[in-house]
Amino acid sequence: MPEDELDAMLTRLKLTAIRDQLDTLLEQAARADMTLREVLHLLCAAEVARKDERRIQMGMSIAKFPCVRTLEGFEFEAQPSIDPKLVRELATSRWVANGDTVLLLGPPGVGKTHLAVALGREAILRGYSTLFASATSIVTQLVRAHTEGRLEERLTHLAKPKLLVIDELGYLPFEANAAHLFFQLVSRRYERGATLVTSNRSVAEWGGVFGDAVVATAILDRLLHHSHVVTIRGDSYRLKAKRKSGLVRDTTTIAAAT
Ligand code: ADP
Ligand code: MG
Repeated sequence: MPEDELDAMLTRLKLTAIRDQLDTLLEQAARADMTLREVLHLLCAAEVARKDERRIQMGMSIAKFPCVRTLEGFEFEAQPSIDPKLVRELATSRWVANGDTVLLLGPPGVGKTHLAVALGREAILRGYSTLFASATSIVTQLVRAHTEGRLEERLTHLAKPKLLVIDELGYLPFEANAAHLFFQLVSRRYERGATLVTSNRSVAEWGGVFGDAVVATAILDRLLHHSHVVTIRGDSYRLKAKRKSGLVRDTTTIAAAT
């Protein structure tokens, strides 16, 4: 039984984890005096672990997160306005499966993007395709595609992921045409894909963001239908961390320095 033949078969079957770790795995099996069934279990487990890891890596790179953030890395004590129970429930990604909306609202620096990336990561771990983009980038993409006669293609692309994370809605107001294009995206995803929106504006102020009251109502109607809202109050985490380290005393020091 030539060894490279086994190697070739494992390659052909795409069992690359078993192929690469075969000696170690067989030694481990021999040491533990495993039955054949147990050995098969050990080999399959190694392969499944490798495939899962690859799938997650691929999902993370497709998602285009702007940074690496996890729920484990989020200090709930630093942000008492957030209900940890609600975030833990959202971490199960049931809302993603249902095609619901999550709104993370609050002033700058309170951890909206952190939580958005972390919840996106949880969704990927559970097998849901995810795409992260800023509201500005989505609008720019839609407007450009519209001008170039490729709107349909872009809408299809943005409607495909099971979860679309739209970061920083409201930092810049939309132009009238843009609000209408955004509405088309929201309505295409409605009750199919899940959407997570972060915003520094309250929902009541979104009408002003979209620039057109009728379109704003239509967008809100769909976004808020099955929604979970996390409103974060309090100070910027960044400033708080600096204050704690004694780098700055308070917000006015920062304002004076910049
Ligand atoms: P926002 O999107 O609300 O403006 P970010 O999510 O970008 O704020 O948070 C700013 C920085 O502070 C990020 O580096 C983020 O990881 C960190 N941060 C914010 N809140 C927390 C927290 N409660 N625990 C740990 N890190 C936090
Ligand atoms: Mg942010």
